[in-house]
Amino acid sequence: VFISFEGGDGAGKSTQMAMLRDHLVTDRSVAEDLILSTREPGGTPLGTSIRELLLHGEDVDPRAEALLYAADRAHHVATVVKPHLARGGLVLGDRYLDSSVAYQGAGRELEGEEIASLSLWAVHGLLPHRTILLDVPIQTLDERRAEDRDRLERAGDEFHAAVREEFLDLARAEPERFAVIDGTLPREEVHRQVLAAVGEVLSL
Ligand code: C5P
Repeated sequence: VFISFEGGDGAGKSTQMAMLRDHLVTDRSVAEDLILSTREPGGTPLGTSIRELLLHGEDVDPRAEALLYAADRAHHVATVVKPHLARGGLVLGDRYLDSSVAYQGAGRELEGEEIASLSLWAVHGLLPHRTILLDVPIQTLDERRAEDRDRLERAGDEFHAAVREEFLDLARAEPERFAVIDGTLPREEVHRQVLAAVGEVLSL
């Protein structure tokens, strides 16, 4: 089973992924090696290099940027995600292709649909069984983010507002895949809602 976590920077994705993993291992006795927590960009050595280029390198042309994210994702899915799924494992992904549509599409230089088809091509059409969208207003994200920001995180409020709207549009378009959770709630409550959202696909 493949579950992805999406949302703005500082929405709580990694915290909630860790809480879900802990719950499955501690309370549900799922073997630790059955659960793969991974992230993109950066879930492989190649991806780590691409991540470094994207986040700390020069400003990249929008199409080149979209292709680099797609290259990272293609390699990550082929070498890490698919083999783990083929072993019957559970993959928890910190970001997946919806992030590309939201981030690369929100700049509006590229169409969301083009990015979605590029992303789907890159992964042979592999979609998560469930996508958890942690929705948080941009003012709250701003307050949560550390002072030390990387290149992309320095982008303006308008960009982050567009990213948030794009995520919500994606969720409205695929309500059976997405669960939208209010990320401003206390994290124990968010965790409870995450469990409810993944319960069906994980047969909890
Ligand atoms: O969540 P994480 O820290 O891994 O995201 C790294 C950065 O990459 C974030 O600032 C996010 O805005 C950006 N990003 C992006 N396009 C993607 C995925 C992430 O611009 N497809």
